[in-house]
Amino acid sequence: MDTPLAFPALHASHAGIWVGSIDGQVQTVGKGEAAGRAAETPMVMLNAPLVAQRLGYPDLSGLDLLELFAFVYPARFAVPTPKGMAKALGITPPTTDQDVPQFLLVAARTLLDVLDAPDWAEREGAWDAAQALMRLRWPWSNLILSRLKKPEKPERWLFSRLPEWEESPPRTPPRVVTLGAEAVQQRLASLVGGSAETRQGQRDFAQAAAEIFAPRARKGEPNMLLAEAGTGIGKTLGYLAPASLWATAADGTVWISTFTKALQRQLVREAQRIYPDYDTFKSKVVVRKGRENYLCLLNLEDALQGGFAGRAAILAHLVARWAAYSNDGDMIGGDLPGWLPTLFRRNGSTALTDRRGECIYAGCPHYKKCFIERASRSSVQAEIVIANHALMMVNAARGRDELNRPSRIIFDEGHHLFDAADSMFAAALTGQETIELRRWVIGPEGKARGRRRGLSARLADVASYDEEGGLAIEMARMAAEALPGDGWLARLAEGAPSGPIERFLAAVRAMVFARDETNATEGGYGLETELADPDAAVVDAAADAAVALEALARPLTVLGQRLEAMVSDPPDWLDGSARARVEGAMASLSWRIDTVRAWISMLARAVGPVDTEFVDWLAIDRFEGREMDIGMHRRWLDPMKPVADIVLKPSHGVLATSATLRSGGDWKNAEARTGALHLDKPATHFSAISPFDYTAQAEVLIVTDIKKGDAAALAGAYAALITASGGGVLGLFTAIRRLRSTYARIADRLARDGLPLYAQHVDPIDTGTLVDIFRDDPHASLLGTDALRDGVDVPGHSLRLVIMEQIPWPRPDILHRARRLKNGGIDFDDRIIRAKMAQAFGRLIRSADDKGHFVLLSSAVPSRLLTAFPPGTPIRRVTLAEAVASVKTGLSPDEKLRQDVKISLDESNPF
Ligand code: SF4
Repeated sequence: MDTPLAFPALHASHAGIWVGSIDGQVQTVGKGEAAGRAAETPMVMLNAPLVAQRLGYPDLSGLDLLELFAFVYPARFAVPTPKGMAKALGITPPTTDQDVPQFLLVAARTLLDVLDAPDWAEREGAWDAAQALMRLRWPWSNLILSRLKKPEKPERWLFSRLPEWEESPPRTPPRVVTLGAEAVQQRLASLVGGSAETRQGQRDFAQAAAEIFAPRARKGEPNMLLAEAGTGIGKTLGYLAPASLWATAADGTVWISTFTKALQRQLVREAQRIYPDYDTFKSKVVVRKGRENYLCLLNLEDALQGGFAGRAAILAHLVARWAAYSNDGDMIGGDLPGWLPTLFRRNGSTALTDRRGECIYAGCPHYKKCFIERASRSSVQAEIVIANHALMMVNAARGRDELNRPSRIIFDEGHHLFDAADSMFAAALTGQETIELRRWVIGPEGKARGRRRGLSARLADVASYDEEGGLAIEMARMAAEALPGDGWLARLAEGAPSGPIERFLAAVRAMVFARDETNATEGGYGLETELADPDAAVVDAAADAAVALEALARPLTVLGQRLEAMVSDPPDWLDGSARARVEGAMASLSWRIDTVRAWISMLARAVGPVDTEFVDWLAIDRFEGREMDIGMHRRWLDPMKPVADIVLKPSHGVLATSATLRSGGDWKNAEARTGALHLDKPATHFSAISPFDYTAQAEVLIVTDIKKGDAAALAGAYAALITASGGGVLGLFTAIRRLRSTYARIADRLARDGLPLYAQHVDPIDTGTLVDIFRDDPHASLLGTDALRDGVDVPGHSLRLVIMEQIPWPRPDILHRARRLKNGGIDFDDRIIRAKMAQAFGRLIRSADDKGHFVLLSSAVPSRLLTAFPPGTPIRRVTLAEAVASVKTGLSPDEKLRQDVKISLDESNPF
């Protein structure tokens, strides 16, 4: 049906602003005029927050095409650009910015016309959702309801449509099997494919990986292999071959843990080769993520029934549309478009997940349909579980199910194990952490919305049945009053802290301000000081704070004991679901008790001797000059020690692998970074070099004439190189400040040359979506920081130049200084730098056909750091002019997209 759409459309890029009217006219307008017209008449636009940013008018609203897409096609992938929308809708993309307004109208009409289509797969639930959205004055709702037919029968609501999971019997322990070399090679050959030739490096890798599945000789001594396999070896199939063979033969589960979502997605694709039949695949391969990734249905129900207001409520209804069609309910890396929460400025999306441990397990009416519970049950029966490093450690440290602990583990991206462990085993006694505990015990204060309840409301039945338990809950509630409450930051700033913990934080704040020496260089960001010779105010306040926390830990511990007694000698009323709820409460209680105990031991350090296992310091977290959090921090000097104890030693076989496992050092370094150093049985080692021809495929250019600290010259260099390359540039920064300043100086000019520039920390778009946009447009370039250094997997022409703004020196903070002292001083720094440079270089050459340059903008790069690059890679020290010329001549002359780039260095460096 050809339905007219009586609204104008607005498009804004760095190159200009265009308004298209309903009669097909397109006008170029200024920012003020565009904002004024948008305020008068609703306009169709694509990604309103991005348009608002381009216009410099944050309150802009309108008919966002992306919201309509999310309503019509929930759980479908689309890149949120005109080209991406055209691809998703099967219509012709616009060729110029000027064509975009009319394209938006065509795209909107195409989407609205779907509502009439008899084969629209996502129809169920649309009518009720549109009605609810109309009550919330969602701009699209009238247009939708004018086309949508009222269903003949009332629609089932989301919570009755979702399938229930089923409890399955406990799995018996795996059989003892030994994998034959021939069987491993046959499995590998079948995964690689009949016609494809398997490479020797991959065959050797598979054979080495098979060793971790051999029967373990002694308890506490897993078979551990450290394997460094250069990019292109094909290590995922290399380890999937023995892993899948063992899982089937032994009837066991292999856990594969990654650091990035990109690798998780790749693993899912590759695991399909093992189980080509979709139903078998679904039952054998499970992706597990932290519970904070998944939609909590109870939180959603609360949001739909008035818990959320305004735009957040609209988001909740669009999320509910998605939940009905989602594969797994994963809101972060699953099939919910990553751009959807950012359209609502993240307003409400985090409150839909279970972030603060408020799950009530079997007490929840949606327990049997809960996405989190389903994922956790399916992994019990799976052969391959794909997880991430953080989840592996959380499970090991706080897992509820001893029987289903991972026993065969493959850590891919093993060079990140140290960082994952470092965060997981960190402790922070800060205002934000303590107020969270207060809310968990007492419940939210004042007029807070949402369904969060305190301990006494959650365990009311326990309190009424068990007097001692009830008393413990009441004592804990009273003790939690000593924790910081709402407004604590303001009270500290005014010098009027309330209660012992706030007084401790106030003393910490004063000491940090007095002693910090980093402020001169950090301008408005974090302040910190060592916990050495604390002043008397900190010592006194720490002693009082420890007493207050002891008063809280005691009743929580008693409550834990009462719950345990109740489960082991259950009363009549404790049926299956009540028991599961009590067990859930026990798990979250024990985690809180551990936290409070860790805080007490940190406070003991403030008043007593140093514990050499830990690094302790005091800090004020700030963002652009604003104080965000204050407190005491503790990290393990070597976080791989607890990992070795709770993850490695209980397992039977562990493989840690990566292209840069030795991080530019030797095996000792790899052993330290993976925890193998702490095992009684030494790990075995394997290495295979990359089959890529780096001499022909890549070139490293070290640009020596950009002065450090010259922001204009830095921006000019980026502009010149991006222009020379015709886009396809990944620009990596070590400081957000420099990234923003570079972006602000060059984005408009590049856009006018047809070279769009996107940036993390600037564009209101999540990182995953930025990478999707970058991958989809060979003219686009992307600037970013750490997360892009090894989270980007863009093989082929879209990424042909990586620029690093300077040597990635480690941040010289207190924690780094302590580890540097212990681990060899400058050598330790060098290993970290080489690892970061190797990871950044690794973005460039992803396949045998990739070609490109790696440019380092640094006048002095010590030669000892250059071993970060693969052997054979040509490295030259050049001027910017020479680098630009190399990037230009490195281009293939017959490629259309590079022909129209006409630059001269002088022109492109006007800053
Ligand atoms: S079981 Fe827990 S996480 Fe799942 S829906 Fe209910 S409250 Fe949310």
